[in-house]
Amino acid sequence: MMLSGWLDNGQHQTLSITARPDPLAALHALLDDYRRRGQPLPAAPPNLALARHHPETSPSSSYLARLVGFPERRLAKGAASRRMIAEAARELGVDTDCPLTHVVQGRLEGSPWLQRISYYEAARLERLLQVSCWTVIAYLSGMRDSEIKHLQRGCVSVQRDPDGQIYRYRLSSLAFKGEDAHGAKATWVVTAPVARAVAVLERLQPQGQSYLFAKPPSSPSHRQRQDAHHVPNSNTTNRDLAALITWINTYCAAHHRPDSIPQVKGQIPHLTTRQFRRTLAWFIARRPGGTIAGALQYRHQGIQMFEGYAGTSDSGFRDEVEAEQALARGQYLVGMSTDNDRLALTGPAGAEAEERLAEFARHTVFDGQVVTDEARLRRILARHDPHLYPGTFITCVYNPDRALCHTPTGPTDTPALADCQPLACRNAALTPTNRSAVTDHLASLDTALAEGDRLAPYVRHRLEAQRRDTAVFLARHAPESPP
Ligand code: SF4
Repeated sequence: MMLSGWLDNGQHQTLSITARPDPLAALHALLDDYRRRGQPLPAAPPNLALARHHPETSPSSSYLARLVGFPERRLAKGAASRRMIAEAARELGVDTDCPLTHVVQGRLEGSPWLQRISYYEAARLERLLQVSCWTVIAYLSGMRDSEIKHLQRGCVSVQRDPDGQIYRYRLSSLAFKGEDAHGAKATWVVTAPVARAVAVLERLQPQGQSYLFAKPPSSPSHRQRQDAHHVPNSNTTNRDLAALITWINTYCAAHHRPDSIPQVKGQIPHLTTRQFRRTLAWFIARRPGGTIAGALQYRHQGIQMFEGYAGTSDSGFRDEVEAEQALARGQYLVGMSTDNDRLALTGPAGAEAEERLAEFARHTVFDGQVVTDEARLRRILARHDPHLYPGTFITCVYNPDRALCHTPTGPTDTPALADCQPLACRNAALTPTNRSAVTDHLASLDTALAEGDRLAPYVRHRLEAQRRDTAVFLARHAPESPP
């Protein structure tokens, strides 16, 4: 018969020994198993004070008791069982630790991330794994801490294409927006890493536990509490985040890895649960990072999450990203409007862009000081938004009456930059950066047309028309030569 079950430290163990109601018989079978494998017995917990006087380690009767599924006192207090353990220890020796029988599966660059996992480390690692999953979910979904803590087993649903491939993951929980303390049912569209973190949490909790962030069974407070669904509060999660950073940096130092978490002003960063949602909104709005891969990653993240906008509206995360985008635009326009050395905008709406920037500067510069305070800038934007929208090929000087990007039924309060018609719209203005982007585009059209013989006639005709219109546009809106 197989012995299988959850240990108090949350680890699942299976032993191929014959289970009998007699603890001595079970212990005998277990020790024979150790003998067959020639494996030393697991060591009792390290106790530095004792070790000074008794440097030799003793076997862990508590771990052996858990493996055979009997309370420790049944083995530790019985003379016969103590004798059996002592005999096996003399024969096999005692390990320097108490390694789990679990074979390490996780790999870092092809090698196991640890050689073995100590029974005495398992509870700490379990807690670190739980907060690692929290981090993945928080940073890649934009959920609030309270929304994450309400996640329950089975909260991920998937949609598949006709070939069975998953193309969308949805996460269900309660959204806590404003003053509503009870929350409202809501769904978030998430990416595969979030779904994976949920799957890990589902395995981490025993089957009877529905809440994914309930204290794990190895936690001392779990055993003391009556309320099995108790989840850690934000302060506890903040402490766990600090413990995770310390663990990562200790691990990196011990394994000579360069990817530790950098210190801030000589200290490890102080992360709180509230920062993750805002940071994700900030990155989606700005997509910085200097690498195309980074920018694309956040664009992908933004598209995935807002594809399911109807379902995510309860959480208000889209509003948060849009507010961040408005702030990013405001900061960019402040920079433009106060830069006396920049070249003037050109294009059909170039002159109007300059007028709006001058007017905006009247509200953002006081006594020669430029407004940098975010809250103040948000207030100024709310009242004096110049409605200039920077884009790659043009800067939109938005005027709804002239906009060519709107459908009759679409919203008209902002431009639809994805449907912009830059060569034809009278709202278009050009910064020097826009101009060089259009010039690059013209060069790419020339390259494509140089191989025109290989193009289908229709495609060639379209490219030629586009090239002609682009060249005319650039010539018509060339910057004035300096006098
Ligand atoms: S077509 Fe382009 S320039 Fe015109 S309003 Fe729309 S986004 Fe702005």
